[in-house]
Amino acid sequence: MIRAGLLRGIFLKAVYPLMLVFGWLFRIDKEKIQRTLIDVNNRLIRTNPKHTKKLLLLLPHCLQLSDCNIKITYNVYNCAGCGRCEIKDFTAIAQELGLELFVATGGTIARRVVEKTRPEAIIAVACERDLSSGIIDTYPLPIIGIVNERPFGPCFNTRVDINKVRDALVFFAGIGEKA
Ligand code: SF4
Repeated sequence: MIRAGLLRGIFLKAVYPLMLVFGWLFRIDKEKIQRTLIDVNNRLIRTNPKHTKKLLLLLPHCLQLSDCNIKITYNVYNCAGCGRCEIKDFTAIAQELGLELFVATGGTIARRVVEKTRPEAIIAVACERDLSSGIIDTYPLPIIGIVNERPFGPCFNTRVDINKVRDALVFFAGIGEKA
């Protein structure tokens, strides 16, 4: 039987590019194809549990409320914890569980953070485009991708279902229940 890790590699590096070509030919919405990649990746990750506490939680900058002037890109703990956005909840979870938590303003910074922190697994929240490219670029590192919610359109006051993030934490480290 082919191992889930290898299967994931084949899917990300060989099947997905073909899906993109197929999607382009038949005018299938690219975001739908990217979402499929994220779903299949997450399912394959869950078939092969990797337990570690060296976890990195990557969040998009647009999760921060647009009228908050606090700079959290380089130090998310600058957040004053007013609770108007979910950054407060994530800093609390990360501090409690001793996780590395970073807010990235884009894919380039996210990749730099991964290189610097050298995690054994990643939970990333982002849009379909950033998640799909990040999942491919960081392979074979295990990564669970969670698509953000965009009630006001892209890159503006986005949200995420915190329960999905907790669920991913439980999966990787079995520590999320304490959060
Ligand atoms: S929770 Fe933190 S980041 Fe969000 S609006 Fe309040 S101070 Fe700003």
